[in-house]
Amino acid sequence: MSAVTDQSVWDVVVVGAGPAGSSAARVAAERGSTVLLVDRARFPRYKTCGGGLIGLSIDYVPASILATVEQRVDTVRFTLRGGSATSHTESQSFLSMVQRERFDDALASAAVAAGATFVDGVQVKSLREDEFVVLDTSHGEISARTVIGADGTNGRCGRYVGVTPGGVDLALELEITTPTALRRWNDEVFFDWGEDAGSYAWMFPKDDILTVGVIQAKGSPDATRRYLDRWVGQLGLAGATVERSSGHLAQWRTDDSPLRRGRVIVTGDAAALLDPWTREGISFALRSGTWAGEAAAGGGEEALDGYVDRVLADLAPDIRAGSRLLRVFERHPRLVHLVIANSAVGSRLFIAVCRGEKTLASIIRNRFARFALRLVRA
Ligand SMILES: Cc1cc2nc3c(=O)[nH]c(=O)nc-3n(C[C@H](O)[C@H](O)[C@H](O)COP(=O)(O)OP(=O)(O)OC[C@H]3O[C@@H](n4cnc5c(N)ncnc54)[C@H](O)[C@@H]3O)c2cc1C
Repeated sequence: MSAVTDQSVWDVVVVGAGPAGSSAARVAAERGSTVLLVDRARFPRYKTCGGGLIGLSIDYVPASILATVEQRVDTVRFTLRGGSATSHTESQSFLSMVQRERFDDALASAAVAAGATFVDGVQVKSLREDEFVVLDTSHGEISARTVIGADGTNGRCGRYVGVTPGGVDLALELEITTPTALRRWNDEVFFDWGEDAGSYAWMFPKDDILTVGVIQAKGSPDATRRYLDRWVGQLGLAGATVERSSGHLAQWRTDDSPLRRGRVIVTGDAAALLDPWTREGISFALRSGTWAGEAAAGGGEEALDGYVDRVLADLAPDIRAGSRLLRVFERHPRLVHLVIANSAVGSRLFIAVCRGEKTLASIIRNRFARFALRLVRA
């Protein structure tokens, strides 16, 4: 594939064209760097994901990409272990829904429009650093002054940098054709807090598809599968047409997990930047990818260190907060359900986080929240 090898040294090579990688490639190209973006998959490619965009995600995508939003949601419904439902409706929508296939393809196209070269179907097998970073790929060797690793959960770049996971989940998901009788669900999301510690289930609507999934700590796949079956039954979707069934691991970083090794920096899921409680990751991918693109275009040691500092200052506190809230949720799911689903304060905070008006870190800095967390010893 000549586009991969026809330049002797690229300023920036980005591995992985998810939200993190395509944002990084677009921003570095906009700043004048020669940028190669590669992905092992052929695009458009499917990604197991709810496709829910919170306000912070919307803030970090070019306006043209918002044409891929399929639904805007103004209602949230909760159950605890399949019990009775509580719902909350806002006058204005607070979450946007995308199909990742279309969303990620549009982000990669935006990178190309900014001047990046995108080659799909190229797998990176290993990295080494000499005078430049050398990537061994399925299409030969590529050299770069800086590499941005955006190759997702447990990818080659994260392993090269030494990313350490603080926890790993297994998620199972179905894409189900929305039965005509359930079209009324098109503007609502539905969550169930599960029986196993830290588990939950979701139903996210798209144009004519319901994304239905469950997530819980990796290690009991049969229990995770049973939870998915129960959830599908609870939604009245047993027997509905399943367009796709898939599974994916999700992981979040330990507090001291590295973000850089030499001239390689990692972003998004490759750096395990994910909220441990909600498992929201697209906003982390878009933000860290954007900052990585800026840093790589800057090129110097200071710029790469600046990327690390920014992630530690702006994203790590939310991951720490999510980790504390996950502990509370694991120990006291009823209490969490009561607060979020049945109290005005809890549902207001939930909506504010979805809108991007508050972060988990800002919520737990509040003195009432600090007091409550001390009471439950989290
Ligand atoms: C079931 C599930 C539901 C989720 N729902 C939501 C949600 O509703 N909202 C939300 O905000 N977050 C959600 N997340 C998290 C979200 O999906 C991720 O955080 C997000 O996709 C991270 O983006 P990324 O660009 O870092 O990685 P990815 O989107 O995973 O992209 C990585 C890319 O790297 C490529 N790649 C991998 N290895 C190589 C290689 N060796 N060489 C070349 N290319 C390679 C892959 O093909 C892929 O295209 C969910 C996660 C799961 C598992």
